Amino acid sequence: MYNNSGSRRSTSGYSARPNYRKFQNRFPKKRSFGKYIDPSLFIKKAADFIKIEEEITKYNFEDFKLDPILLANVKAKGYIKPTPIQDQAILQIMNGKDVLGIANTGTGKTASYAIPLIQKILENPNKRIIILAPTRELATQIKQDIRSFTPGLRVFIALAIGGAFIREQIMDIRRGPNILIGTPGRITDLGHRRVIDFTKFDTVVLDEVDRMLDMGFVDDIKTIVDQIPASRQTLFFSATVDRKIEVLINTFLRDPVKVSVKTTDASDHVEQNVVNVSRHEKEEKLCELLSKKEEFKKVLIFGATKMMVERLTVSLIRQGFNADSIHGDKPQHKRQTVLKLFKEDRLNILVATDVAARGLDIPDVSHVINYDQPNNYEDYCHRIGRTGRGNSKGYALTFVENRY
Ligand code: AMP
Repeated sequence: MYNNSGSRRSTSGYSARPNYRKFQNRFPKKRSFGKYIDPSLFIKKAADFIKIEEEITKYNFEDFKLDPILLANVKAKGYIKPTPIQDQAILQIMNGKDVLGIANTGTGKTASYAIPLIQKILENPNKRIIILAPTRELATQIKQDIRSFTPGLRVFIALAIGGAFIREQIMDIRRGPNILIGTPGRITDLGHRRVIDFTKFDTVVLDEVDRMLDMGFVDDIKTIVDQIPASRQTLFFSATVDRKIEVLINTFLRDPVKVSVKTTDASDHVEQNVVNVSRHEKEEKLCELLSKKEEFKKVLIFGATKMMVERLTVSLIRQGFNADSIHGDKPQHKRQTVLKLFKEDRLNILVATDVAARGLDIPDVSHVINYDQPNNYEDYCHRIGRTGRGNSKGYALTFVENRY
């Protein structure tokens, strides 16, 4: 069984993400791939009492003078009060200010820009907004989030992401949507094909800029933003700000309002532990855990490569588990279907690679299992952040292979 020795607190504070770098270079030993991570970093007790800090917010949604249907749609989603980022950003965005939002997923940042931008479209149906996000999944999720605010309203949205039919996307874009959401690669491609005329946009949203840079999109982003008229409104969201990001902030934003939200360290809600196994027992051990269905209700398993993820999934299905996978080799529509099934609890085991699972907001994941260890501590934090969301407790188990 897995042991439960000791605990270690990770950093928390005003930065939306923990200070990973502090951990990364502490243990310089090499692994076969990625950085060696001391297994003790995978062990941490969840806080006994999950603190719900009293959030000081000034406004109610009624104070924003939203279109009545938009307000009703917001309420229908069960949003009672604005989250701190919404409280600080919504009026500023409505007033046309550039915004620099230091926040990560889970803070309500999507609605913080979606609600005021929809309101602006209702006031001016000629508005043209482009939203850039790092991954296909996140772009799709943003589209779904925005859609959930627009029933009964004339707001046209198009999605431009890789791995999906480009012809349909071209047709959607030619209809002149109010909001175009996409990943930098596909948007750049459609720009080259002269399908997208960037000069027509008056607002740009850059979501998860730090991840877009991690994924090597910096040149695409610069090229896209440079073509959007200087009179634009720019909304820039990032969980962290380093030198490279500061340079972008200084070039893209004009006198921005800075909105920084204090997020509790996601890992405070996650009981973290290791499972010591020998390589040949790994799968057996995993199945033993997954068989405890009462406990392991909704499990996200991370594998190191697309191939390993696929192989493990096939094997789990053969053994009768309700499992499926997402990774880069899977067609986009299949990835979306699998994700939907998992979100709706119709699938209870999802096996994934890191990239495919980045930034996803999946409700009620009971366990994250690192079947293969992450490449670095930052990836570890992203992975375990998929559980223990909101104020619920989550569990993260990391398989550590014995040498014998
Ligand atoms: P995000 O940070 O945009 O990924 O949002 C995280 C989660 O919080 C999503 O499931 C949202 O639907 C939810 N959410 C956003 N704003 C609110 C709010 N004002 N009240 C309750 N839930 C919210």
